[in-house]
Amino acid sequence: MKKLTILGSTGSIGTQTLDVIRANPGDFEVKALAANKNADMLLEQAKEFGPDVVCIYDEKTAFENKDRFKGIAKVVCGMDGLISCAAENDADIAVCAVVGMIGIRPVIEAIKAGKDIALANKETLVTAGHIIIPLVKEKNVKLLPVDSEHSAIFQSLNGEKRGQVSKLILTASGGPFRGKKKEELRDIKVEDALKHPNWSMGRKITIDSATMVNKGLEILEAAWLFDMDIDNIQVVVQPQSVIHSMVEFNDGAVIAQLGTPDMKLPIQYALYYPDRVFLAGDRLDFYALGHIDFEKPDTDTFEGIALAAAAGKAGGSMPTVYNAANEYAVAKFLNRKMGFLDITKTIKEMMESHNVIADPDIDTILSVEREIYERIG
Ligand code: NDP
Repeated sequence: MKKLTILGSTGSIGTQTLDVIRANPGDFEVKALAANKNADMLLEQAKEFGPDVVCIYDEKTAFENKDRFKGIAKVVCGMDGLISCAAENDADIAVCAVVGMIGIRPVIEAIKAGKDIALANKETLVTAGHIIIPLVKEKNVKLLPVDSEHSAIFQSLNGEKRGQVSKLILTASGGPFRGKKKEELRDIKVEDALKHPNWSMGRKITIDSATMVNKGLEILEAAWLFDMDIDNIQVVVQPQSVIHSMVEFNDGAVIAQLGTPDMKLPIQYALYYPDRVFLAGDRLDFYALGHIDFEKPDTDTFEGIALAAAAGKAGGSMPTVYNAANEYAVAKFLNRKMGFLDITKTIKEMMESHNVIADPDIDTILSVEREIYERIG
């Protein structure tokens, strides 16, 4: 039986992780669960899965709800609580499914404690990959991708020699605004941007998909996960979301992973790696599908892809600027305080006026994040 903790258990990835665990009784023991404010759902999860401890990050919510968990689980809060859920228990694997840079410290502490990481929280790797990847090697733990594209690449690399890879090909659905030009995106409303054609996800990543900044973040995530030059990572729009990503090898062979768009597959693959177990759900019906289409991404309209590549090449603190500006701008857009096109424009402005700090430590990364938030205002 594998012991695990889930950071972000009340979110889209977190609840689907618990769906996988529920569907496989006897295979997993849940040691800790963590959320930000959703104490009601966390309480239901605690009753069902019996963790020793839960973290309600928001201190006020934790204080108000503590008594409801009496006799069910210990309640901790804040960053110390999140870190204790990630690292201070005998779990084998920590699933990191919180959203944003808040995942940096808990992921690092979990690795230091010798836990394997199932990583959905791409923002953590984008901003602190230079700290996390060497630590993963030093502690000899596994960093298992949950993002569907990265899981597809990870699966395509099975049994292959990393030195023989020539290119990673990240597929993209193109989001709800595929085919639209900038002029048509000026008055986009929050409701329009939250309608993803193929995937049902949390609000932040859904907006990231609409701006295609998500693909930019994925380029940076792939560069760290698979030790690949940014120039050898290509984005291909594949609107049906059937091919989850591909790897091209020296001899020109391309290996891909295909499937229906269901995040439970990459989640389950990370939890059971290297085994595959039954997963209920639709199978690909190639006769019904008929065809798969490919397009070049429109990088003039969706500038987030090129900005991510520039941030990755600049290195140091620049990916943090890219990510932090996006996180803050997306929050403002969701609160109707910023326009849709202003998200990418803000990232660009913040990057243009930033002097790169080489090899930033965690404190520096977090202070760059704060500085960007203050500058955007
Ligand atoms: P959601 O917004 O659905 O869920 C976020 C989760 O994180 C919630 O449980 C939330 O708690 C929790 N959380 C937020 N802040 C904190 C905090 N400070 N401390 C503890 N918990 C916190 O996000 P998603 O599940 O969509 O995404 C999670 C991550 O996975 C993101 O990095 C995203 O990019 C990545 N990802 C998601 C995919 C998807 O299909 N959803 C696909 C690929 C990657 P609460 O409910 O209390 O707010």
